[in-house]
Amino acid sequence: MDVEQLEKIANSTFERWVSLCRQEKHSLAKDEAQTLIGLCVETIGGQNEADSETKNAALELGILFRGLQDFNTVYELIKSSNYELDDAQIEKVWVLLWDCKDRVKFSKSHYANAVLNILLEKIKLLEKQIDEYAGSAIYTSAEIDCSVICSVCRADYRSCDHFAGQIYNGHLCSRTPIDLRLVNFAAVELPEDPRNRLWPWKTHEAERGDLVLENCLILRSFRLDDFLDK
Ligand SMILES: [Zn+2]
Repeated sequence: MDVEQLEKIANSTFERWVSLCRQEKHSLAKDEAQTLIGLCVETIGGQNEADSETKNAALELGILFRGLQDFNTVYELIKSSNYELDDAQIEKVWVLLWDCKDRVKFSKSHYANAVLNILLEKIKLLEKQIDEYAGSAIYTSAEIDCSVICSVCRADYRSCDHFAGQIYNGHLCSRTPIDLRLVNFAAVELPEDPRNRLWPWKTHEAERGDLVLENCLILRSFRLDDFLDK
């Protein structure tokens, strides 16, 4: 497998994915994306030695198709009958929209396709609908004490030569926090991670006007390339 062959397969898979989405066959579209993800995983870590350029392309494509699957899952949830009444599903959709958006935005610089812009427009629309339903957005922001290692070489991130966001031989470099300890958390309007939204149905006023938060997400681990773990 070389990079041209991989991209050719990805292009035809993408076309089939678009066609299935147009027919609202999101479960089948997800399967279609999974086939390509499987090929990417095999290319990055399999027995058949691919060159570094092909492995890097496989990682980029794996992230893209994982984002397309997020999009399908959003539409599967939306199509379920009581979506608008189910707060738990709205929370799930919100997180998936951000997962999808982060993955598609990352991929857009490597894989140019007008369909991705349409997809991002649809996401924006869905976010607006959720904002209208849930009211003004407040988020939790956690202050964490931790050490940070490089996801490529596992050394202290400050001491290695890798750069977060760059791909090295099929591996995405990121700053990986370890030994996490929650120091503090606050409610903010401009969060680092909008996934940690403070939903109105998770807060209520108790006696004496105390504000109580229940089951609120304060830190969510998210990786663009989590498809490599499966
Ligand atoms: Zn490193």
